[in-house]
Amino acid sequence: MGISEIFGSNVFSESVMRQRLPEMAFREVKQVLDHGGQISLQTADVVAKSMMEWAVEKGATHFTHWFQPLTGITAEKHDSFITYPREGKTILRLTGRQLIMGEPDASSFPTGGLRATHYARGYTAWDITSPAFIKEMSAGKILCIPTVFVSYNGESLDNKTPLLHSMEALSKQAIRIVRLFGNRDAIRVIPSVGPEQEYFIVDKEMYLKRRDLIYTGRTLFGAPAPKGQELEDQYFGVIRERIGDFMRDLNLELWKLGIPATTQHNEVAPAQHELAPIYTTCNVAVDQNQLTMETMKRVATQHGLVCLLHEKPFAGVNGSGKHNNWSISTDRGENLLDPGDTPNENLQFLLVLSCIMKAVDEHAALLRQSAANVGNDERLGADEAPPAIISIFLGSQLEDVVNQIYEHGSAEACIAGGQLITGVSTLPVLDKDATDRNRTSPFAFTGNKFEFRSVGSSDSIANANTVLNTIVADAFSQAADVLEQAEDFSKALNDVIAQNIRDHIRIIFNGDGYSQAWVEEAARRGLPNHSCMVDAVPALTSEKTVALFDKYKIFTRTELESRAEVMYETYTKIKSIEARTMVHMAGKHYVPAVVRFIARMSDSVNKARMACPDADTGVQQDLIRRSSALLTEAYGELNALNRAVEQLGTMSDVPEMAHFCRDAVVPHMKRLRAAVDSLELIVDKDLWPVPTYGDLMFEV
Ligand code: ADP
Ligand code: MG
Repeated sequence: MGISEIFGSNVFSESVMRQRLPEMAFREVKQVLDHGGQISLQTADVVAKSMMEWAVEKGATHFTHWFQPLTGITAEKHDSFITYPREGKTILRLTGRQLIMGEPDASSFPTGGLRATHYARGYTAWDITSPAFIKEMSAGKILCIPTVFVSYNGESLDNKTPLLHSMEALSKQAIRIVRLFGNRDAIRVIPSVGPEQEYFIVDKEMYLKRRDLIYTGRTLFGAPAPKGQELEDQYFGVIRERIGDFMRDLNLELWKLGIPATTQHNEVAPAQHELAPIYTTCNVAVDQNQLTMETMKRVATQHGLVCLLHEKPFAGVNGSGKHNNWSISTDRGENLLDPGDTPNENLQFLLVLSCIMKAVDEHAALLRQSAANVGNDERLGADEAPPAIISIFLGSQLEDVVNQIYEHGSAEACIAGGQLITGVSTLPVLDKDATDRNRTSPFAFTGNKFEFRSVGSSDSIANANTVLNTIVADAFSQAADVLEQAEDFSKALNDVIAQNIRDHIRIIFNGDGYSQAWVEEAARRGLPNHSCMVDAVPALTSEKTVALFDKYKIFTRTELESRAEVMYETYTKIKSIEARTMVHMAGKHYVPAVVRFIARMSDSVNKARMACPDADTGVQQDLIRRSSALLTEAYGELNALNRAVEQLGTMSDVPEMAHFCRDAVVPHMKRLRAAVDSLELIVDKDLWPVPTYGDLMFEV
């Protein structure tokens, strides 16, 4: 089969529905797909039957409502199509009701107190805008129906419901903007997203020897390998055969699911890689990214490999993130972020741009929060990923336009893109982009889209996009409120653009985001800098945020409070798992290994002296002294960490526990690690109980 036959073969797509559904039913579905609303129960029955027949033809045996609870990963419970057997035979069935609604036991998903266990009702409801698909797993082929997940009282318990609301809010407000510029045709404005996904691949045998990788997805100990990423010879380097095999199978599996995986390359760190799909509608991109992560893990296992999606699997080498490429277009295909050749004259673009500046500046802390997860704390601001400070990079052309408006109220000219002349006569003259690049910026304009680069590699991109859509919708709404009433539209338009730019110029930063100078400069500008997730959470429940989400009916205050609670809880849980894993590894692996090493050295000293009384045993003695001192230190930290974990067990206030982890648990983890890592450099390799960084990163 060629790519074009494989692509989407496991998706119950619009074209499959067009082929297989009776015309009336298809028309009703199409109406909902294009204009929103709900299909009737009769039509749902027809769609369900057709969907099941299609799935059974493909070998599916079960179906599941596939949803995205607040754990950040997807959840599913498989039900088979079989019905109660009669005369020893069963009829396969999927009803319209089963298609559109499900009721998983919601009590074990995080809800942040929204629902006590005895009110365990939660419902999943079919998200018709995201197509159903078949997942091929060792458990069989499963028909997956994308759904949202809500509580008995209608509160959202997932990441999908708010995302869909935010898309509606954005569409509604953006339509007001394009109407102001005479656009009468567009019915909707749709955000598009293309997430670039970074990941690490390690050998499964070695992975299984490390409890930290197994329990926490990252190495909690490990001295740097002699060779790191300093030569940058891995970046865009030739892909190794074993990884190549994995990538080939991964692409195939993704294509079957209709995921347009298109770019693959090695990343900066050894054993790190990246995959990018072609961008698509925001909610579909969110689903597809979840599926991509799942598929990466599954396919890796089939190759005797393990895919690590943790934001920082290895200390001292680059971690992994996601670049959330985001743009907004009308249903007629006009990209509102396309500046054209002369952005200074493109007033609609300038209005949109100035609104985005306002949105990002006013809600910088919230946007930062939307990319907060535990693993990302190890990455943001570590000189490799964007800092925890949110700022916007525009590139020289737009920055110049913005500066002109800032100073004079309008922009008379703009820098042209120009051509890149290589000087080699046989090479083509390349058209140069008008925007250069800045890898250090968390929110960068890249030609006709913004790239939000703070999101963690293991995280869902749902929250980041919910926040982006909503804050931009709000800035649009405020601009439209003024402009729709204006008597002199041109003048009012210039005023709004200039005002937005003057009020929010501080969010623009084109320099080196990794530098200490920027940290200080950002503080002078009053930009928030929340380097720890625990500090990022309060932005979720600030009065500003509550008012924003309430205005567009995306989250209620209660929902926000519960989400904040879930974040604190998650932080605490993950930190205590990490701490307990460290206690285990130090106590059961490292300390005994060092004791053996000291015994070996002592033995050597004694034997050497016996054999040759005047032999110099200074080296062995020095090794004994140094390792014993480090062992004492490690052992002290191990006990201190253990006590901290025990103390945590006596606490019950969730935010307090998170703070305790950050302030009283993490510091011991760091010191324990430092002592053990120093020991790793002293102790014989054959005694060291786990694979090292060198083994993990260079032997795949
Ligand atoms: P870059 O090299 O600038 O990072 P690429 O062309 O490699 O850009 O694209 C990176 C990701 O951005 C891809 O997933 C791509 O599909 C996506 N992308 C490209 N254009 C847009 C757009 N207008 N809106 C959203 N995503 C986009
Ligand atoms: Mg990119």
